[in-house]
Order: sequence, then C-alpha cells, then structure tokens
Amino acid sequence: MVNQTEAACKPDLAGIRRRLLTWYRKHKRDLPWRRTGDPYRIWVSEIMLQQTRVAAVLPYYSRFLARFPDVTALADAREQDLLAAWAGLGYYSRARNLQKAAKDIVERGEFPRDFSSLQELPGVGDYTAAAVASIAFGLPHAVMDGNVARVLSRLTPEPGDIKSDAVRKRLWAFAEALLDRKRPGEFNQALMELGATVCLPKRPQCERCPVHLHCEARKQGLENQLPVRGARPSADQRDMKLLVIERAGKVLFWQRPAQSSRLAEFWELPERDQLPDAKVIDFAGAFRHIIVNTTYLVEVCRATLGSRPNGFRWLAKSGLGDVPVSTTAKKALALALKSPSNKTQ
Ligand code: SF4
Repeated sequence: MVNQTEAACKPDLAGIRRRLLTWYRKHKRDLPWRRTGDPYRIWVSEIMLQQTRVAAVLPYYSRFLARFPDVTALADAREQDLLAAWAGLGYYSRARNLQKAAKDIVERGEFPRDFSSLQELPGVGDYTAAAVASIAFGLPHAVMDGNVARVLSRLTPEPGDIKSDAVRKRLWAFAEALLDRKRPGEFNQALMELGATVCLPKRPQCERCPVHLHCEARKQGLENQLPVRGARPSADQRDMKLLVIERAGKVLFWQRPAQSSRLAEFWELPERDQLPDAKVIDFAGAFRHIIVNTTYLVEVCRATLGSRPNGFRWLAKSGLGDVPVSTTAKKALALALKSPSNKTQ
C-alpha cells in the first residue's frame, strides 16, 4: 500500500516543498500566533484551535493572553476566571487541561522543549506536541490534523477511508517524508494553511493551488471525491425549554456541580421541568444548538416565580461576564433580553 503513495509522489517531494513554501510566504494570513516565537503563546493558540475555527478563536486569543500573559499567570488563575475567559469557545476540558499543564510547567521550572516532554502535558496529544515542537522550537515533527490529512489524501491520492488506521498510517508516512526538515514549523503551517484556505473540504480551489501540478487527485479528476469517508453515525435530536426569570436586574440560574462530566461549574438557566411552579409569561424565541452529536431545539420563555427554590441563585445581569455561563444559556438570554415581552399566557 505504501508503494502507491511513494511511487506517485516521492519524486515530487522537493517540488511540493518549494512551491508550497513560496506560496505560503506570499499568501499566509496575518494571525497573531504567527507573530510570536513564544512557546506559551503558540501552545495556547494550538489548544484553542483544536476543533475550533480561526475566526472564532481570534477574539478569545487576544483577551485570554491579556488576562493570562504568561504561564505563571495561567497557573495562578482562579478557575472561575479561567472558565469565564473561555466561555463560548466550548470543549472546556481544554481550558482545565491548559491550567493543569501550566501548573506542571511552573513546577518543572521551564517550558518543555522537545516532543516527548510536550506530550507529557495534560491535553497535549501527538498533533499539538508536533505543532509546538516544530513551530516554537524548529524540531522536525510532521503534523496531522483534519486539514493536513485532506490535502495529503488528495496529493497521493488515497483511495481508502480517511478514518481508518491503515490510511492514517500511510498518510503519516507521507507527511514525514514530505516534511521540510530545515524549516519544519513554517512547512507545517504552510500545509495547514493550504488545507484551510485552498484545498477546502468542498470545492477545492485547484486553479489557485501552488501544488496542483503535483496533485494526483487533480490529475485524475478526483479532487471532489477525496478524501473517502466511512458512514457517520446519525445525529440525535432533542427538545429543551429554558426559562428566563428576571427580578430587579438579576436572572435566576443554577450551577453545574464540580464533578459534572460536561461544563462542570458552569451556570445554566433553569429548564421548564426543573421549575413546575414557574408561570410562563411569553415565548421569547427558539434556536438550534449542537452539543457533540446531539442537536437541541431550544425554546426560550420568559417566566415568573414566587420564591427562589433551593439550588438556584439570582445572578446580576451586569456581572454575567465575570462568571462561566454556558453557551446555551447565553444564547437564550440574548433572545429573551433583546425581544420585548409582549404576550401573557
Ligand atoms: Fe487540493 Fe486541488 Fe491543490 Fe490537489 S490541486 S492539493 S485537490 S487544491
């Protein structure tokens, strides 16, 4: 199997590298984590970018670094402040692991400077260790994220299921062979940039691709059919009804317990079933929200309640930016607080 990849691409490795790097230097996006050599800042960016788009990360990145400018500040942060700074980015275990890792680094007395020491940090897997090792320290480790796997599967071309172990292995072997060992950080970023801006999942922009002459998928007219993906599990759908109960500039919330498997210690709006005594005033709106594989159809109602039940707290609306509030609750609040109350049921 490896022979197919090698036979098709080995002679062109130098050409791919040269063209890709020339293109990257001219066309790369100006992103804040590309303007620094500080391993802490590069590491934070890589963690934030896991499963999250660049446009979504940008405002969080600057705010986060303004609040926690170095590894010591992050290690010393109160968990509530950390989660509040991360609220809205999702996958909150990333923030907790980031802080655990920061504490480890402070204990060690220096930032880990090689692939295996980086991998020992909580929340740092193969991809992140390779990215930080190559970008911050110039070490020759190839990266493999979804963008890179797609580009490589088209360059080779790879006919197998991109999720299968065998295909992953083949693509890894190709990525290692292709890596520019003199400039691994720049080369890895160039490959990721190509996947993010040109070799797109749907309708790849082959006419402006710097490596189209080397691309087997393009030559064979397969660029829109690759990568091959196995069937995905079908998504679950559920209904949720949230209540926004206001009183004197405050809103009623409950807090997830510290041992909650998801969004531990985040503040949530009450669901209808939690407060059977609440009186619904009107319907404020609805939205869809996807959590992992489940799509929630969230209906938001304004309501009133006689007295505060056990397990709930009034939080001042003006202070909600300082505590971790779930994205679902934020969306519901935005709907309820912006639309006028107009109907009594
Ligand atoms: Fe992707 Fe097209 Fe470039 Fe091939 S030629 S790497 S399919 S953008």
